[in-house]
Amino acid sequence: MSRATTGPAIQLVLSDDWELRGDGSGNMRAIQFATIRRLCDVYEEYGLRGSFNVEVFQQLVHRRLQSEHPELAALSEEWEEVVVDTYRRGHDVQLHLHPQWSAAVYADGRWRLGASWALSDYSRGEASTMLGDAKSYLEGLLQPISSDYRCVSFRAGSWAIAPSPHALEVLADLGIVFDMSIVNGLYFDTAEVRIDYRDVEEPFLPYYPRSEDARRVGSGPGPIVCVPTHSFRPRLSGRVLHMLARRSRRFPIASRAMGRYAAASDAPIPEGGYVADYSDQTRQNTGHEQPPESGLTVSDLCHLTYAQMREVVDDIRRRAEATGMSQVPVILENHTKDIGDFAPFERFARMVARTPDLNTITSSELAEGLEGGEFPIKAAHEG
Ligand SMILES: [Zn+2]
Repeated sequence: MSRATTGPAIQLVLSDDWELRGDGSGNMRAIQFATIRRLCDVYEEYGLRGSFNVEVFQQLVHRRLQSEHPELAALSEEWEEVVVDTYRRGHDVQLHLHPQWSAAVYADGRWRLGASWALSDYSRGEASTMLGDAKSYLEGLLQPISSDYRCVSFRAGSWAIAPSPHALEVLADLGIVFDMSIVNGLYFDTAEVRIDYRDVEEPFLPYYPRSEDARRVGSGPGPIVCVPTHSFRPRLSGRVLHMLARRSRRFPIASRAMGRYAAASDAPIPEGGYVADYSDQTRQNTGHEQPPESGLTVSDLCHLTYAQMREVVDDIRRRAEATGMSQVPVILENHTKDIGDFAPFERFARMVARTPDLNTITSSELAEGLEGGEFPIKAAHEG
């Protein structure tokens, strides 16, 4: 199905937020360790490299409590082995953070995370400590494998980076080259997180943000770049997908095509509610409709059918051609924990490998390209 093209080269970053569920629930060995290994197998079969945004706060808290709880010591050892192995295999490892782990309590084999889910709710000092500790830990883990390793990119838990008077400055001070937390169309209004990205100024290309509001393009070069995570308008609206997902849970035999939605929705809903990192799940679990829907969906591969993955590629190609640029970097999302069925990934990986205008780069390569001028960075005065 490859096509001859004179259009721009599309440089895909296959990002993936690798973590327990937002409320601390989930079996790490099943939804993190086994699943990432299998995903890497798929990518490697087709010569692709993933860029895993590993949620480090979870690991720091496991380490902190490991002397009292041997099971946490074992899990944190395995976590390190898996991350190191993933990096050795040629995939990228970058930073993701769920600040709700800052007030984690562990009792009877369960986590209770009481703190805010949004980085933008924390003070400059708190954000600086959390992010600095997490970045140092990651570099300490991976620099012995490769002295070149640098933590250069970040995605905020629940995407909550803006607005914030200091989040981007803290990241820039730590040497983060780009943030990938902005997604056009995303909107949450829940007890845990409130964000409104329905009107971002640059939904597609890298840009210099305004320092206090990553949704806005800054007037000139600044200390950090925003690269939006891709979103698109699926042919089936989110509302229809939810109806199908609900039906698929009631009629499991008929649900094969919707398996990924059902799997994601089967997460336990403890007291206080469980909110995933994307808006559809939020609506489903809070049990009420969110106000005005943007109709846009995060290009989060684990929640897409193969047909929708093709829609994502078509959307990217159309927008990339409109830029007139020779190459365009685009970040796709994934959540290892929510992969219910690898079949669409196999097909997607094969399609990317066979399509001449689709390439994959890592987050680190994107950072190098931004710093080296290979990928232009927009500012407001350039229009
Ligand atoms: Zn996350």
